[in-house]
Amino acid sequence: MRILSPNASEYSILLKDEHREIQKVAREFAENEIAPIADKIDKEDKIPSDIIKKIADLGFLGVPYPPELGGVGADYLSMAIVVEELARISCAVSVIPVAHTLAAMPIYVHGTEEQRKKYLIPLAKGEKVGAHAMTEPAAGSDVAGIKSTARKEGDKWVLNGTKVFCTNGDIAETFLIFARTSPPSKEKRQLGISAFIVERGTKGFTVGKPIGKTGIRGSKSVELLMEDTEIPQENLLGEEGKGFYVAMDCYDHGRIEVAAQGVGVGQAAIESAAKYTAQRIAFGQPLLEFQGPQFMLGEVSAEVNGARFLTYWAATLKDQGKDFSAAASMAKMFATEAGERAALVAIKLGGSAGVATEYPMERFLRDIQVTKIYEGTNDIQRLTLGRMIYKEAKSMLEES
Ligand SMILES: Cc1cc2nc3c(=O)[nH]c(=O)nc-3n(C[C@H](O)[C@H](O)[C@H](O)COP(=O)(O)OP(=O)(O)OC[C@H]3O[C@@H](n4cnc5c(N)ncnc54)[C@H](O)[C@@H]3O)c2cc1C
Repeated sequence: MRILSPNASEYSILLKDEHREIQKVAREFAENEIAPIADKIDKEDKIPSDIIKKIADLGFLGVPYPPELGGVGADYLSMAIVVEELARISCAVSVIPVAHTLAAMPIYVHGTEEQRKKYLIPLAKGEKVGAHAMTEPAAGSDVAGIKSTARKEGDKWVLNGTKVFCTNGDIAETFLIFARTSPPSKEKRQLGISAFIVERGTKGFTVGKPIGKTGIRGSKSVELLMEDTEIPQENLLGEEGKGFYVAMDCYDHGRIEVAAQGVGVGQAAIESAAKYTAQRIAFGQPLLEFQGPQFMLGEVSAEVNGARFLTYWAATLKDQGKDFSAAASMAKMFATEAGERAALVAIKLGGSAGVATEYPMERFLRDIQVTKIYEGTNDIQRLTLGRMIYKEAKSMLEES
């Protein structure tokens, strides 16, 4: 049986000098400029605008796009490495490029030449921030259940509806918004959804208040209201009625980035716990000289490194133009749960310090909860993988 298990030759991770270079740049930036304020970002629920500008100036909003479209021209493995390094210091800050990519990448992949010129170039250069709006009050995991509508009137589209949890919505200029252009059919509910590019400031388009939350504080997820919002016909992205596939495409690569967040937070939790237990004296010796803490840290470091391998592997498959969908689902699910276990171990080993808000351990646990939810909850990853396994099992039975 080789269900969901590629040939050994496909288990490669192509780490080159350019990856080590971008890792160094991201790590130094995160350690020098974000670490001193990571706790403040969480407590005050605000990312300073100069940090966002520096992220843009470093090219972190344009990593995977070609230079002629304003990007850095690096690959997806580089993107994963940048996100991991930012998340190791502040998961909230790492969310900015992740949510941005959910608007920019679909424009890169599905956009016309004009759309790429007008919208992707400023996004890839980091002159503008992007945001992605699919989720609605009554439709999250069930994407095909969205109720927002877009109707064609002459050479315009008129949008109506409400979106929630639109991350980066507070700072974004370019929004990728999904709406129904025709009602769902019984056979294929996912058909009839279309993707639209909407600019901040469009009449009838209101960016609402951020939704309060316990994790990734500082990053803002807002409500959006569309009341007869008119946009030009040419702002339809991709084919009319096929927006579901535009979204699924971008969630596939987005999962690699969320997996990288899981790895970054998990790594941070292990480092915090190791440093704490190496200096905390109990019963006459550092806690880390006891076997119990050694076992716990040994286990979670194996898991977080396993998660890193899965994440880099999924990114490498994407960079090689191979099918990376299952790898991205596995990486997202495994890495965010490995990160959660590492955060729990860090809290456990911290004792009272583990739950004290002056230490970062409890923040890691709050942040990692969010990564288990967005870009398809981990239940949805299990469903997706389970369906793929079922399909493969059926074809194996047919062949035998
Ligand atoms: C901080 C944050 C930022 C976000 N940013 C964005 C964004 O930028 N853009 C955007 O469009 N959305 C965004 N989201 C929304 C996110 O994608 C959804 O929250 C997510 O898809 C889950 O949807 P839901 O919250 O409606 O939960 P529901 O779909 O209602 O699910 C509730 C629970 O039921 C489980 N469940 C649902 N269906 C099944 C099933 N078939 N089988 C088994 N279990 C199931 C889920 O796993 C979950 O545990 C964000 C969410 C958060 C928390």
